[in-house]
Amino acid sequence: MNTGLPLPTPRRLLARVRDVMAASGTAQEHLDQTVSIIAADMVAEVCSVYVRRAGDVLELFATEGLNKSAVHNTRLRVGEGLIGEIAASARPFALSDAQKHPSFAYRPETGEEIYHSLMGVPVIRGGRVIGVLSVQNRSRRNYSEEEVESLQTVAMVLAELVSGGELISREEQIPADGIALLPLRIEGTRLNAGLGIGEAVLHRPRVIIERFVAEDPTVENERLRQALSEMHGALDDMLRVAGFQTGKGDHIDVLETYRMFAEDAGWFARIKEAINTGLTAEAAVQKVHNSIRTRMGKISDPYLRERIEDFEDLAERLLQHLVGSENSSDQIFFPEDAILIARTMGPAQLLDYDRTHIRGLILEEGSPTSHVAIVARALDIPVVGNVRGILDKIEQGEQVIVDGDNGQVFVRPGDDVRQAFLVNFQSREIQKAAYASLRDLPAVSKDGIRIQLELNAGLLVDLQQLEEAGADGIGLYRTEIPFMVRSDFPGVEEQRSLYAKILDQAGNKPVAFRTLDVGGDKVLPYWDDAKEENPAMGWRAIRISLDRPFILRQQLRALIQAAAGRNLKVMFPMVTELGEFTAARKILNLELERESGRGGTLPLQIHCGAMLEVPALLFQLSGLLKEVDFLSVGSNDLFQFLFAADRGNPDLWERYDLISPLVFSILKPIVDNCREAGVPLCLCGEMAGDPLGAMALIGLGFREISLAPHAVGPVKAMIRSLDVASLETYLATLGQTDLHNVRENIRSYAQDHGVNL
Ligand code: PEP
Ligand code: MG
Repeated sequence: MNTGLPLPTPRRLLARVRDVMAASGTAQEHLDQTVSIIAADMVAEVCSVYVRRAGDVLELFATEGLNKSAVHNTRLRVGEGLIGEIAASARPFALSDAQKHPSFAYRPETGEEIYHSLMGVPVIRGGRVIGVLSVQNRSRRNYSEEEVESLQTVAMVLAELVSGGELISREEQIPADGIALLPLRIEGTRLNAGLGIGEAVLHRPRVIIERFVAEDPTVENERLRQALSEMHGALDDMLRVAGFQTGKGDHIDVLETYRMFAEDAGWFARIKEAINTGLTAEAAVQKVHNSIRTRMGKISDPYLRERIEDFEDLAERLLQHLVGSENSSDQIFFPEDAILIARTMGPAQLLDYDRTHIRGLILEEGSPTSHVAIVARALDIPVVGNVRGILDKIEQGEQVIVDGDNGQVFVRPGDDVRQAFLVNFQSREIQKAAYASLRDLPAVSKDGIRIQLELNAGLLVDLQQLEEAGADGIGLYRTEIPFMVRSDFPGVEEQRSLYAKILDQAGNKPVAFRTLDVGGDKVLPYWDDAKEENPAMGWRAIRISLDRPFILRQQLRALIQAAAGRNLKVMFPMVTELGEFTAARKILNLELERESGRGGTLPLQIHCGAMLEVPALLFQLSGLLKEVDFLSVGSNDLFQFLFAADRGNPDLWERYDLISPLVFSILKPIVDNCREAGVPLCLCGEMAGDPLGAMALIGLGFREISLAPHAVGPVKAMIRSLDVASLETYLATLGQTDLHNVRENIRSYAQDHGVNL
């Protein structure tokens, strides 16, 4: 559409650059002409392009205004001078007095001393800075935001020219580490346990954009609208399939949240804005995508980062709908054993792959709570996150090992590492098989003591483990976890349906639902809570529930309705005073009355218990035991408060040992008091998941413990090789000592008595 009116910048500038690119000539000639056009259009005396070469050097490739003799001679390291700083930070700079900037590096051969102001933007491709485009003026000019935007838009077109292979070879564009063929071991963070070996499949933006500059924004806006509607339809289909194939689970919630982001108005507005500057719809999506990527490095808030990951995922998806499948390289060969490698990945992207061939997932970023990690856990894929720079160090098809247990990866492993891996893998499989063979056997000691082994769970998919691991029930269902993977507070009906599914999956086995334990380190993304100095000891758990009874009432209502006609076991976290428990129980009773008042079916039996995780409650035990139907020791919190040692601080992990006479002297009276009062007792902290810890607990008299699913096998094997009576006698003797820990003593005992640790 030509209105005859002058085109607004940056559309005018883009149109001119497009004409240059379309004309015949070499890439260097195109670059030379482009810098002249930009300088003229932006009324700048200087316009220069620096290209990143091997060894992280930025070389001046073309200039209008600086000394021509400096071209191909002036070089700066990434991080050196303002140009280097722009490349290192991947951020635009607009400075009215560049020479006063601390990073300014003077290069006499360029003759730039007379230019005061500078505006520069990174030239980005595939998330990597491959050059810098800058303009300079003699006067101390204040560049506007629109001018920065224009320069960024042109930089996108330049990115294609630079990466075309004519200016510098494609080999040189591969970062130095990527060419190194040596084996590498890179540390990351364990996001999901397990071992995997396979060929690297690099998950990269797969769409190749060929047209950047548009003739008519109206046409492009229509293309965008059309692609969005196709994308929404495809996402809905995928959600249906995911729900059908993978069973119901919290990963479905995650996907639904993601689907919601696909409707985000702010995101569309930014894409439309970019189209109105003269870009094609695909280039506009790419531009928004690039700017999200560059901003990402600076955001540390995990929730925001996850939202950005979702947007990135959507951008790639939208691009595919825009350019169609002919420009997509999705039909890449997918090996039999694949290790997926991504900087980051949205949950839906993981589901796009054939999961029967995925042996592991490596992410440059990612946190344990990231949506992709949650979905990967549901699919039982080992994941290592936070593996910095992995994408620059590996090529498609190279062999790689994911060690999710230890949070590390091996790139191009040598024979020795591969051998060690295989041995490890096989022994894991043998162990797994051995534990699986115990699945249908009860956790009974050699002298006939039956131990209730239950699971700690928080996601629907964990419940599959009830059967697989052969556990006796759910000793702790952390209801806050499904709340944490959502984008808003679930209402009664949503909660009811979730709790009912949990009870359905558990069948006849008991499930102890713990009411919402938020606060502390468990943050709900949509909960606007005030920052606290000491959140672990702050406004959390039952304190919130009692101060905001509406939330507790809704949750209890949902639990009562979900358990209609079956047993309901519910417990309150972080009880500090007996009065808190009785107040919470009153609310439960109110909800029961309400339910019966409206003619609803009540649960068959109700067991209402407290978590013992605040030391103050130890001194109110006799009163408490008269009120509760059961007690569950949360050793993680109980001992963090008892020792005044933050449970999340790795420097303090080994400072105080729970396998110690001191801890035994605290736990033993709890066991004795509960036994005397006839109150069932469980322990559901991490201590129970360590076979040595579990052994000590059983020796102290615990007969019910709750642990992570993967720990059930090893703990059951330990129990079945143990003589409890003999251990009890032995522990009684250790109790007299004042040793820092008795770990080695118990280990030796186990060895001498054939206990399988
Ligand atoms: C505990 O504190 O031991 C416990 C089981 O609860 P959480 O780990 O969820 O705080
Ligand atoms: Mg706790």
